[in-house]
Amino acid sequence: MNMNTAAEKVKVTLKKYLKDASHILFPAQCLICEGELPSNNLICSFCEPELLLTHFEKYNEPTALDQLFWGREQISSTYALLFYKEGSSTQQVLHQLKYKNKPETGRLFGEKIAEKWGKKLTTEKVDLLLPVPIHAKKKFLRGYNQSTMIAEGISKRIQVPIANNLAGKIQHTGSQTKRGRFSRWDNVTGNFTISNKIKQYKHIALVDDVITTGSTLEALIKAIRNVHPSVQISIVSLAVTK
Ligand SMILES: [Zn+2]
Repeated sequence: MNMNTAAEKVKVTLKKYLKDASHILFPAQCLICEGELPSNNLICSFCEPELLLTHFEKYNEPTALDQLFWGREQISSTYALLFYKEGSSTQQVLHQLKYKNKPETGRLFGEKIAEKWGKKLTTEKVDLLLPVPIHAKKKFLRGYNQSTMIAEGISKRIQVPIANNLAGKIQHTGSQTKRGRFSRWDNVTGNFTISNKIKQYKHIALVDDVITTGSTLEALIKAIRNVHPSVQISIVSLAVTK
């Protein structure tokens, strides 16, 4: 055995040890029933079948999500992994992702999205994943943007970059001094600020956590197209209201 393989073995053993140790300190809990999990999984085998999968990837005809944007904005393709209903397992998953400090939930579901829809994004030559921006204060309090976590999971599987500081969300206060803080932004439309650098991308997939009326996405698309009218846009979301 040469030195490199020996070092690699030590590394693997150490990694496994740390993983096991962290499991003892923080036993993995199922995101839905909160029961203890034996492995590094996030959902137990009892709850897995409870997931309200849309199966949109199997549709040949337009889905309810496609239809949501008809007559509003031109969209290349749309996808959502789960249906959202009050009191459903999806609500539990979103709650963990947004309020229980579980960013890994987003990454895991991002990977699940990529398993089902990654090929479509690659075939359609999506060259940027843009997580729907949240207000800086919200991001500070939560510690992360939940849609960025979903985008990370997708990006890991399909190797498409995630937008970094190309779009932001602001709160209109009417105060000039507060507006001044955002002068680094090139363009402001509605509640969104868009960097001119966005022009270098041809097909952007917007990544969201849950779509209800689609009005936030519509506003974001308008803001992007004000800067970059010819851009192709697709939508990928963890969930959509049923
Ligand atoms: Zn469970």
